[in-house]
Order: sequence, then structure tokens, then C-alpha cells
Amino acid sequence: MVTPFVEGWDFVQTLGEGAYGEVKLAVNRSTQEAVAVKILSLDKAKGALENVRKEVCVHRMMNDDHIVRFYGQRKEANIQYLFLEYMSGGELFDRIEPDIGMPGKQAHRYFVQLMAGVEYLHKKGVTHRDLKPENLLLDDNDNLKISDFGLATVFRHQGKERLMAKCCGTPPYVAPEVMKKEEFPAEPADVWSCGIVLVAMLGGELPWDEPTYECKEFRDWLDKKMHLSPWKKIDPLPLALLRKILTESPTKRCTIATLRKDRWYNGKTWPHRPPSSSPTSSGSFKRVCSGNDLSPTSSIRRENSATFSSSQPIPHAVHDMPTPETTKESVEKLILGVSFSQPVHIDSLLLSSQIQSTPGSSQTPMQRLVKRMTRVFTKLSPDETIKKLTAVLEKMGYSWKTTTARQVTITSLDRRKNPLIFKAHLHEMDDKVLVDFRLSKGDGIEFKRHFLKIKGKLVHITTKVPLLSPFV
Ligand code: ATP
Repeated sequence: MVTPFVEGWDFVQTLGEGAYGEVKLAVNRSTQEAVAVKILSLDKAKGALENVRKEVCVHRMMNDDHIVRFYGQRKEANIQYLFLEYMSGGELFDRIEPDIGMPGKQAHRYFVQLMAGVEYLHKKGVTHRDLKPENLLLDDNDNLKISDFGLATVFRHQGKERLMAKCCGTPPYVAPEVMKKEEFPAEPADVWSCGIVLVAMLGGELPWDEPTYECKEFRDWLDKKMHLSPWKKIDPLPLALLRKILTESPTKRCTIATLRKDRWYNGKTWPHRPPSSSPTSSGSFKRVCSGNDLSPTSSIRRENSATFSSSQPIPHAVHDMPTPETTKESVEKLILGVSFSQPVHIDSLLLSSQIQSTPGSSQTPMQRLVKRMTRVFTKLSPDETIKKLTAVLEKMGYSWKTTTARQVTITSLDRRKNPLIFKAHLHEMDDKVLVDFRLSKGDGIEFKRHFLKIKGKLVHITTKVPLLSPFV
């Protein structure tokens, strides 16, 4: 893909990838503003243009603290650019320790924020349809925000609600009614997915492959076999809440309103943290927002985009909604692509002297990286690191190939026999090499499981994480 480059803005890092393209971090050279740019190839799949159009229509309606901000869009030939709030804290799945989860207090805080975001969406008449830890991102203050509106649709318009009919989402996260060939209400299905996210946060694993009677783990849940994993790892109070959320019948399932009366949900909350202005905060960039300078499986639709995407049109009036933000001039330039210069080499920009020498910039290349736990450092040269890494991968039975001089793509199957693809990207940093593992396709928790195994086999070449790194 040719990377257009707007003058004054550098693409410094690939933040992630999805079915249709990549998400890159763009940083303004003089102001240090950071914007995530989702770059979608419209010729990658049939119906891609229509899907992107819907994603834009829905996302631009959103204006809430728990939803990733949408700044604007631009289309160049067959490439669509979506300009989004940069979430420097990375993905929620990265905070989930496989088979362990995370401390209850932290899970509670994220869950309350998730429900606030979902409540906002539902008030707007929008259902997300693909809530999972890979689509829940964290900002520099560790606040959770909902992202990826690729499957979202409007279920209520001008007070009139319609039922959903299409099976879409990610099988372990979808509600049982979504798997059946019947109509179902939109809101309870999103609430169910949030319940599965809570299980993942508290137990470090997904409870089943899909909520159907063919799946033994799902039958065990319906049979209340609480002595089994993951349920036996979860404390009684949150487990009681999960029983209310993961109720098979959507009409009997607890709603967001009734959830508020739950004892665990109502327990001490750890509130949304406002953006910090402290120069020592973990935030690496200024965020731009609302005109103010504020500081596993693939989705079902992705696999069958032609089947699932085009039959639920967004009501026409949605297209006329104004974008909620008036963006800053510099970001507007980026969106409009006012001027272009030559494409730049992204890797070299990670350590770019242009950025480092920006007056007033106290950022180090380390601080520019999105927070991610799936990283190791070596003291070897990049070539030696690749040699040792691929030897370990070979020994562990992975399929791998070097996709660039500094990148290895690893292909495997997860525990559910679903494809898992991830990449190890090398960055030279002073006297060290950072090996940054990033999920390309598959389930986030499974990816983390594989990363930890590989990390264990790399101990002979890895060194300690430097201080001030964006790891925690
Ligand atoms: P999929 O095919 O899985 O639905 P997609 O093409 O819709 O993916 P996203 O899920 O929106 O793409 O983004 C892919 C990844 O890029 C995310 O999981 C995340 O790691 C990263 N990412 C996306 N948006 C942002 C953002 N605003 N800030 C930081 N990172 C982001």
C-alpha cells in the first residue's frame, strides 16, 4: 500500500491491523498531536465500501467519553482513511493475563466504563454487535473506550425500534439468540457480550467457543456447573452478576438499568480519570478532541462480509447527522490532505530526528510507542535477534516467515483450532532491540498465551525492560 504523507504529520508506528487494512499513528511534527489513522483498502473485499460507509455514519454520531472519538475521514482512490482519537494505552486484551485475568478492582473499573459506553450507544439507538477486548481500547489515563464500529448498526430511529436478524459478531462473544435463525432485540445481545468480556477479565479465558447446545461448556453453564473453569476462579459477587447477564433468554437477561442495582456492580467504583496535564504522566502525545486541545477469532462479518453486511441499512436520516467535533486546524489539514510530500519510511520515523528535535518536545522514542505488554528487549543486533527468534519459533513448531528485514510473521492455530496470525516487529533503540509482537488475526487472549510461551523460550537473549517504557 502506498502511504500518503501529509506535510507536518509523520506516520510513526503501526498500531494494529484488521481485515481491511492497518491503523497507524500519525504525529504532528510541531505540535506533537497524535491521531490514529485507520487505512482501509476498499478493494480487499466485496462490499467493503458499503461497510466503511456504515462504519463512518455510525461512528461520527458518537460523542462520549467512553467511545473513541471520530475526527473525520478522507478517501483517496481505493483507500479510505478514518481519523480517530489515539488510544495510547493499547487494547484491553493486553491487560488480561491468560488463565488468570486481572485484579477484580481493575476489572470492575473497566466494566463500569464499558457499560457506560454501551448505555450511551444504546441511547443513541446504535448497537455495536462486536464487543470484545480487541475492540476496547485504553487511553493514556487507562480509561476504556469502545472502538471499531465496523459491525455497528442503528436499531432505533425516531423512537422506532427494529429487531436484529443477522448473525454477526465473534462466536465466543455473541449471545445465544444471535446464533439462532430468529429475530432478536439488539440491546440484550450487546449486554451478553459485555458479560463475556467480564468473564475474560476475571478468569483470563473465554467460557466457550460459541453459545450453542452443541458446545459442552455452554451446556455446563446452563446446568450451573460452577465448580468448573472459568467459573470456579470468579468470586461469588461478580459470579452472581454474570448469572444475571449470561441468562439465555434475552427477555429475562438483566438490562443496563437493572445491572445498576447489582451488589458487585454497585460496589466501590474507580472513576473515569480525567486527562492529566502532568508532564510525567504516561501519556506520550497531546490528544485532540472536540475542538479543544485536550491533553479469535475474526468477526463473523469479516469472514462473510457479503452475506452479513449489506442487509441492514442505516436509516437515511443518520447520514445527515453532523460530525460532533470541530477539529483543530492541524487535524483538519491531515483529514483534508491539504498538502502531500513524499512517502516516508515508517520504521525510520520511529526514531526520527525530525520529531526528537521538535522544539519543546521531551518525548523519547520509547514514550511514543503505544502501551503493550507483548514485547521483549534483546541486547543482540537485529540480525542476530531475528536468527535466534526464528530458531525458537522453528523449535516450537510455528510456521513463520520474514515478511520484511525487520519483521517476522508467525502463523498458528489457537486452542479452538482457529487461525492465529501475529507479527514480531524489530525496532532498534539505543543499544537494544525491541521485539514488538502484535496480533494480526485471531483471538487476543490466545495471542497473549502464545506470546508468553515464546517469551519463556527467549529468556536467554532478552534483557530487562528499560525504565520509562510504556509497558504497564
Ligand atoms: P477487525 O478486522 O478486527 O474488525 P478493523 O479493520 O476494524 O479490525 P480495528 O479493530 O478498528 O480494525 O483496529 C485494529 C487494531 O488497531 C485495534 O485492535 C488496535 O490495536 C489498533 N487501533 C485501532 N484504533 C486505534 C486507536 N484509535 N488508537 C490506537 N490503536 C488503535
